[in-house]
Amino acid sequence: MSYVVVSNLTKSFDNTPVFANINFTIKKGEFITLLGPSGCGKSTLLRCIAGLNSVNEGRIMVEGQEITDLPPQKRGIGMVFQAYALFPNMTAYENIAFGLKIKGINPKEIERKVKEIIEVVELQGREDHLIDELSGGQRQRVALARALVTQPRILFLDEPLSALDAKIRKRLRYMIRKIQKEMGLTTIFVTHDQEEAMVMSDRIFLMHQGAIVQSGTPSEVYAHPINEFAAGFMGNYNIIDETHSKQYFGRSGSHKTAVRPESIFINQPPVGVKCLSTPLEGVVTFKQLLGNVVRYAVQADDLDFSVDVLNSHAEQYAEGQTVKLYFSADEINDLRA
Ligand code: ADP
Ligand code: MG
Repeated sequence: MSYVVVSNLTKSFDNTPVFANINFTIKKGEFITLLGPSGCGKSTLLRCIAGLNSVNEGRIMVEGQEITDLPPQKRGIGMVFQAYALFPNMTAYENIAFGLKIKGINPKEIERKVKEIIEVVELQGREDHLIDELSGGQRQRVALARALVTQPRILFLDEPLSALDAKIRKRLRYMIRKIQKEMGLTTIFVTHDQEEAMVMSDRIFLMHQGAIVQSGTPSEVYAHPINEFAAGFMGNYNIIDETHSKQYFGRSGSHKTAVRPESIFINQPPVGVKCLSTPLEGVVTFKQLLGNVVRYAVQADDLDFSVDVLNSHAEQYAEGQTVKLYFSADEINDLRA
């Protein structure tokens, strides 16, 4: 049973289309990420579902009720944006309580709810600080608390972590996901960051130029990109043209293939991995230490391959060295045009 159903959603600004015929369903409690490069239409799609932008065509249903033409405040959607959109002249507590006050909820009840949610986002001791006195991460937790305290049916998060430092970003990823799971809150998260989408989501909707080009669990989308865009966006895939796909991999010659750097092995296929029987001979042209992984550029024929080797037990290869490349047979992806 679908909790959110979006059908044929279409949006233009003046006569410029942003997206057309968007269709998807979301189950109750699912964490969905809209992932895609800047300008592909993620925020506009979210704003249309939230009622902050009108749509040209299509329908939005939540819990079996059509909300396409409802005003935003009647949709039961909580939102957190990249820019905090908090009231600077109010304290953290007052910011969080604001929405409840407007609804006319009694003060005792407001106090109980705000205290509870402050604990959830771990802002105890910061209640009376003005927004200016808080760090970026704390501000974003105020924004999150303000959205959660109204007990929305759906939570929308539009790049909420993009303005924060790497370390705080990672901590808040974890916090958001934990709270979302505990509350069983249906969530749509927006990001352009592939790693963020991978670690947080139940399912990823990968967007490109106003279309959802692929959707699936993080491991499905990562391991089986359907086209060259998906392969380029989801990982460091090697893209092999039609001619070489036919020559090396015995493909039909009518489509490209994509192979991940960790699905290619140097000199020796690992035990238990079925590899193509004929290796490709090449020369190491470049070697990069990425930390846990050593990334080699290997030139074979006129193609350059990226090959990743785990650093822990890596035999090191030198630039200029001739090597054999073994391809994991089950990890060569046929791409759609
Ligand atoms: P994303 O969030 O993926 O970066 P947006 O949804 O913000 O993308 O933008 C998608 C496209 O819609 C862009 O080309 C953008 O310029 C355009 N757009 C967004 N908002 C407006 C608006 N209010 N008026 C006109 N064009 C807009
Ligand atoms: Mg955006």
